[in-house]
Amino acid sequence: MLQPIEAGLSRPWYRLKFPDALEAQYRAETARQSGRYVQSWLAIFTLFNVLSLVMDREVFGPEGFVVPLAMTLGVFCPVALAAIVSLRGRPTTVRISAAVLATALVDIVVVLNSARLAPAPHADVYIIIATIVPLVVGLIAPMPFRHCLWFCGASFALYGGLVLGFGLCNAERSGLPLLVSGLILVPLKLCYSREWEARKTFLIGLRVKLQGEALARANARLTVLSETDSLTALSNRRHFSERLETAWALAGERDTWLGVILIDLDHFKLLNDTAGHAEGDLCLVAVAEALQTSVAAHGGLAARYGGEEFVALLPEADPSAARSAGEAIRVAITDLAIRHPGLPAGTPVTVSVGTTAGRGRTRDFGIQASDLLKAADFALYAAKNEGRNRVESFMPAANVNRQAGAEARATLPSA
Ligand code: GH3
Ligand code: MG
Ligand code: MG
Repeated sequence: MLQPIEAGLSRPWYRLKFPDALEAQYRAETARQSGRYVQSWLAIFTLFNVLSLVMDREVFGPEGFVVPLAMTLGVFCPVALAAIVSLRGRPTTVRISAAVLATALVDIVVVLNSARLAPAPHADVYIIIATIVPLVVGLIAPMPFRHCLWFCGASFALYGGLVLGFGLCNAERSGLPLLVSGLILVPLKLCYSREWEARKTFLIGLRVKLQGEALARANARLTVLSETDSLTALSNRRHFSERLETAWALAGERDTWLGVILIDLDHFKLLNDTAGHAEGDLCLVAVAEALQTSVAAHGGLAARYGGEEFVALLPEADPSAARSAGEAIRVAITDLAIRHPGLPAGTPVTVSVGTTAGRGRTRDFGIQASDLLKAADFALYAAKNEGRNRVESFMPAANVNRQAGAEARATLPSA
């Protein structure tokens, strides 16, 4: 889409129209505009015509004045008022052009009729005024250039026809009508420039909009990439840590439980060494999928914590719910029956799991999100120590290290 926009911006001077798709969009956006602007100018124009009756009276005298008076009030004003009324709301450009054309044509007739009837020395004034009509209307009305061509063509044809028909122009007396009718080129030029400016503004606006959208898409993609582990497509550790902090803060506000589960593949180095790194990668992807399915079923978030270690958070899971979820995850991964060539035949890839859960209100006693991770890590460490392929649990405590955790664990029953 940007290419036609650039082509449109560097188009040759004689081509206003855009390629089809762009043209349709431009017309759809500019098809209707507020009629107020043209209405107000037509009102001023009408007032100007009414005020000109004072001059008509001076030129025609009390008796001859009846004709311009009747033409102005009986013909011009009704047409002008009808045009003003027709532009209520948001008229189409066709309606605006038709309204200004009708007003201008009728005024040309009224003024040139006065030129025909006016005493000789005053005819020229009316001949000049008759061209000012389409000039002013053409200048004020925001017509598309193609409408302006019609407007100026029709005004010029009527002006020329009446000037000739009323005998206001002959071989000796053609300079003035010709000169003033040449003024019709002014609105033509103005409409052309105005439309080109409008089209340029449209193209630049569209370009900015499209570039903004492309940038927003690229940003959204970058955000996803920065939060995703490229091998398994799970959330990465950084994203998980942010979500854990948020979830722990929320648990604190609501005083709900938050479960955290750490999962580590058993003898994974041996799998790499015996089956190859590529097989190891496939194993990680399969485990990630099973983990994702299992954790999503509990309404939680699964992430790759690093290497062959995964982590999950389970909102509103108390210690026993976290432990059951950990057990479900262990079983789901064992059930994948991924072959492990480094282990005795028939022994599949297994995981060791550490679970924990913290109560929101314990935030007030200094338990932080990182303490939940530490507790899950202690539990995982214990699961490894106690033979792997099992789930162990541990309650979070503030400011404990792995050594202290191991000691504390020796004195506390599993949750
Ligand atoms: P344990 O049962 O005690 O957890 O032993 P382990 O072999 O699973 O653990 P260890 O920490 O000794 O080895 C982890 C291995 O995981 C070492 C490393 O090469 C491998 N690893 C880490 N990231 C990737 C990865 O993206 N792809 C593959 N194929 N291997 C990985
Ligand atoms: Mg391991
Ligand atoms: Mg590990």
